[in-house]
Amino acid sequence: MVNTPENFIPVFPVPTEEEINHLEEELQNKLNSIQNKIANKIPHHEDTGILVSVFANTILRISTFLFQKTGYFGLQKVYYADEGCVGCGTCEKICLSNKINIINDKPVWNREIPCMYCFACISYCPQNAIQAKRMRTRKKGRYHHPQIIAKDISNQKSYALRDSLSIKH
Ligand code: SF4
Ligand code: SF4
Repeated sequence: MVNTPENFIPVFPVPTEEEINHLEEELQNKLNSIQNKIANKIPHHEDTGILVSVFANTILRISTFLFQKTGYFGLQKVYYADEGCVGCGTCEKICLSNKINIINDKPVWNREIPCMYCFACISYCPQNAIQAKRMRTRKKGRYHHPQIIAKDISNQKSYALRDSLSIKH
């Protein structure tokens, strides 16, 4: 099991820079250890403890089912851009669902299109201007992988569209 920085922004707080550095250091050490075991064919068994096991096998499954059934309890309907939005269009370009359109220089989330809850729009807005109502996202930080830029995601979008077109034809 490896821990990565949390960026489920509407629900959880985003770690501080110091916490992120610590997590990334731990993560790198763990990955080095895994790489070493694979390279040397060393068997590995990790006992995550009874609490993690119960959480993963019951609570997580039930909550995932409920999230999918309810669309994260209507989360996709609560996004909005606040007064900090400068209409740059980044959110529209990186939404892999094509759910966001810039209209009159502001993003509009199409409620008819399902959200994938990737939070790329929130995490990559250069102005931190995307919020989710009632979830105190104004007070939370933002996190995305430091080596992945918005263009990397928008490039994936063109691949996704190309693949969906090739499936249809
Ligand atoms: S990415 Fe942020 S600043 Fe740019 S259009 Fe979207 S909400 Fe506005
Ligand atoms: S969370 Fe992801 S899928 Fe949902 S609107 Fe934002 S970018 Fe699009």
